Amino acid sequence: MKDESTVNRELFARIPAVDQLLQLPAVKQLCTVNPEQYVTNCVRRSIEEVRQAIKDGAVAQATDLPGEDELVERIENLVSEGLGHKLMRAVNGAGVILHTGLGRAPLAPSAQAALQEATARYCILATERGSGKRGDRNRHTAEMLREITGAEDSLIVNNNSAAVILALNTFGLGRESIVSRGELVEIGGAFRVPDVMQRSGTIMVEVGTTNKTHLRDYQAAVTENSAVLLKVHTSNYRIEGFHQEVSIRELRQLADEKGLTIIHDIGSGAMIDLTRWGLNYEPTVPEAIRDGADVVSFSGDKLLGGPQCGVIIGRREMIDRMKRNPLMRAFRCDKLINSALDGTLKLFLDPDRLPETHPIYRMMTEPFETVNRRARRIARRIREVSGDQIEVRVEDGVTEMGSGALPARPIVSRVVSLKARKLSAERLALSLRLSDPPLFTRIEEDRVIIDARTIADDEVRLIGGIFAGCTGDRFDPKKWSNRAMSAALKLDIRGDDKLPALG
Ligand SMILES: *Cc1c(COP(=O)(O)O)cnc(C)c1O
Repeated sequence: MKDESTVNRELFARIPAVDQLLQLPAVKQLCTVNPEQYVTNCVRRSIEEVRQAIKDGAVAQATDLPGEDELVERIENLVSEGLGHKLMRAVNGAGVILHTGLGRAPLAPSAQAALQEATARYCILATERGSGKRGDRNRHTAEMLREITGAEDSLIVNNNSAAVILALNTFGLGRESIVSRGELVEIGGAFRVPDVMQRSGTIMVEVGTTNKTHLRDYQAAVTENSAVLLKVHTSNYRIEGFHQEVSIRELRQLADEKGLTIIHDIGSGAMIDLTRWGLNYEPTVPEAIRDGADVVSFSGDKLLGGPQCGVIIGRREMIDRMKRNPLMRAFRCDKLINSALDGTLKLFLDPDRLPETHPIYRMMTEPFETVNRRARRIARRIREVSGDQIEVRVEDGVTEMGSGALPARPIVSRVVSLKARKLSAERLALSLRLSDPPLFTRIEEDRVIIDARTIADDEVRLIGGIFAGCTGDRFDPKKWSNRAMSAALKLDIRGDDKLPALG
């Protein structure tokens, strides 16, 4: 009987050397598509794991040692865990156009081109070519915003939240900002109007009631220390029925009498009247300026469909004061944002063509019959690869705008509705999310739903590939279930409600 240390020494001696593993074709292949140094590290780690298993007694005899194939698989896993592309593209079948989790709007081709132009090399972000001196980084979009909105000047910050904080801090610091109780809303996540007002250093003065606020309420609240009249678009929340709010136009007169600044957080930033495409009315940015708001702020990645940013427009002297606020340094945007916004804004100079030039306007305005045709093509693809394993139907459905834009107003759509014979809806949806690229769906009444409105034409083939991709050219419920199961274990998803048994 050999003693333990002798056995261990023999086992250690059987572990392949780093160089030996690096010579294997599969590992060599890994080195051609990944940094060699990183692959070598993963090889070392895989060996170290085996040594540790021997020390721990988990590997006690030669037959317990992992074979070459197992080691290679472990190395591949280590490499892909470390270097697998993380911010990967995704296919949005979930039917939410501005899906915050999927990065809100896909950028228009013109925005992608502007981004490429400005970022692949140096660019003139903050340089005046004439003088060679430092210039204003906001000037690239200022002219276009003036043209589109009618406002004198503009300023770009990280998001609309930053825009509201900057405006309130500039005009209302240590003084009173008057706001209707009907507009003290929370817009998803952490944007709550009272909290934002407090953090921006202004003194919040609430007027009116939840459903009705009158001009006289604002009038009665004005004191020596009042500085701002704040108006907030309630976005994803709407009061129906017995309701009254005070318009910008009415507030303008009060602001003039008392020397107050009107700040309007209009939220999603509709540039044009959407009723031209049969969508519901949404107050527009140019209207807010025309009605007399001094400062209007909105998101760059809601109805503008550009990069995440906040756009502030308004009277020139007001914009200048905000540019001089020390917070500006923390809120300013770089060349990625400025260029992508530039390429997006351009499209609004020709609003008639937006459905062709801008992906989210295509999705918002596409005729029902076009969506229906795409849904049928998607259904056909899935049937081709899944045979009788998935029951595929094309049905009516609804698309949501998302991100609090266009509240309470779904857009009619056509969806592909799926029920796998041997997989629960949760398991099928999980496997689709884990595909490459991931396909996001929604689940309704134990069926997986793919909304054809948020799918692009060139993604239809891709979806067929996703359903086939797991196994080659056919959908195989067993493999899909295994994929869902191994993901569940890795992600530590527990509970039968999440992953009902196969069958
Ligand atoms: C969405 C929204 C915000 C927050 O904008 P972000 O750009 O996401 O920071 C603020 N106010 C209103 C009214 C909104 O709709």
